[in-house]
Amino acid sequence: MRLGALELVPLFDGRFRLDGGAMFGVVPKTLWARRAPADERNRIRLAMRPLLVRGERTLIVDAGIGDKMDAKAVDIYAIDRRPCLRDTLSAAGATESAVEIVLASHLHFDHAGGFTRRDERGALVPVFPRARYVVRAAEYEDATHPHERNRASYLAANFVPLEEAGVLDLHQGNTDVMPGVRVVRTGGHTMHHQIVYLESEGQTAVFAADLIPTTAHIDNAWVMGYDLYPMDTFLFKRAFIREAIDRGYLIFFEHDPDIAAGYIREADGRRFVEPVIRD
Ligand SMILES: [Zn+2]
Repeated sequence: MRLGALELVPLFDGRFRLDGGAMFGVVPKTLWARRAPADERNRIRLAMRPLLVRGERTLIVDAGIGDKMDAKAVDIYAIDRRPCLRDTLSAAGATESAVEIVLASHLHFDHAGGFTRRDERGALVPVFPRARYVVRAAEYEDATHPHERNRASYLAANFVPLEEAGVLDLHQGNTDVMPGVRVVRTGGHTMHHQIVYLESEGQTAVFAADLIPTTAHIDNAWVMGYDLYPMDTFLFKRAFIREAIDRGYLIFFEHDPDIAAGYIREADGRRFVEPVIRD
């Protein structure tokens, strides 16, 4: 789809499942299960939807889970990468070598797993051979100094090889990554989690990453149990969704199982998503 001078294409790196309780924090199952039914292992359906942005340069936001997860993880998370990121890039008329900038919302494995792969000799190398990888400096610092609470989400194989290959660009603060592409820190999910504003010719779209992972998370208090700082998520999300409704932002939902993008609307005190791009 076009947004002024930018072209936005939702990509896909497969489906997976996570525990429904963890995905909805303090919300009781009797409520969340109506929006996101659980399987026999209490998991709900999710997807990974990185975003391709073509403007002055070719950029992707996040890169899915990649192909390095072992058989145990594939079973636990029900990972099914058909189609995978490379397939959907080529369907969009792009290749891994065409990507010039890889922008990270944060470095959890379901967002950064696709940053690296193993070559024929087993060495970890960047998946996008010509790209600079743009990561918030403080997020990189946290990811490379994990503790018991976040260790399972930060896998060094996904990002340390980028630094070793000299392709990592660490940025400080909220900044323009290229014309029309701006990052804004939300905190909450991780201390330095960020979303991406896409702005051109008076139109705005926002890649919401794990601030609003699915369309089932549009209510202010529906915050993930995974979030390290849930009150920060709540406060940022409450203000952001108000802004998104009032200004008519198109929202990209990175983990929604069916809807890649839509508008958040409000009628009679009830919030809902008007889908724009769906599977
Ligand atoms: Zn995620």
